[in-house]
Amino acid sequence: MERVDVFLGLGSNLGDRDLNLLKAMNLLDEAFGMHPERISRIVETPAWGFEGPDFLNLCVLYRLPRTGTPEEQATRILRQVKEIEKALGRTEEALFDADGKRVYHNRIIDIDILLYGTHIIHTEDLTVPHPLIGQRDFVKKPLLEISKPAVREAFPEIFE
Ligand code: ADP
Ligand code: MG
Repeated sequence: MERVDVFLGLGSNLGDRDLNLLKAMNLLDEAFGMHPERISRIVETPAWGFEGPDFLNLCVLYRLPRTGTPEEQATRILRQVKEIEKALGRTEEALFDADGKRVYHNRIIDIDILLYGTHIIHTEDLTVPHPLIGQRDFVKKPLLEISKPAVREAFPEIFE
């Protein structure tokens, strides 16, 4: 069966952060019908871009059976992770300031699609690789920890 390496980034800075990450990973396992192939360590960092409690972040790698085109499958994964965010009580959507710039905010759980194999995906809802990996050490570090040579070679600018 053909598989694809899907790297997800999880973060939480509200409530019982460890438990939020654990619950999210359980729900991801349930949604994908498997355990992750790799799990990074947890990184703790101050809130980035706003005042708020410290974040816990980690990355996971699921080796999913391929279904449909990369756009189709990644879009389905985005729908699944958004449902899990909601199930864990996340209500906030991304906020934007008057200049259209993203305003960061506290969140019970955030699940981002960091990499979908070595594919580049641009749709209205989805940009993969996630555009902010390179700027965020708290994503880059755990991602590097569980990464594979193929993705490091495909996206040297992310991992440098
Ligand atoms: P953040 O960028 O801080 O994670 P949100 O979690 O609120 O903010 O995500 C806002 C929107 O970003 C989502 O509704 C989704 O459509 C979009 N998005 C674009 N690319 C990605 C990606 N690679 N992973 C997850 N969401 C993405
Ligand atoms: Mg997100």
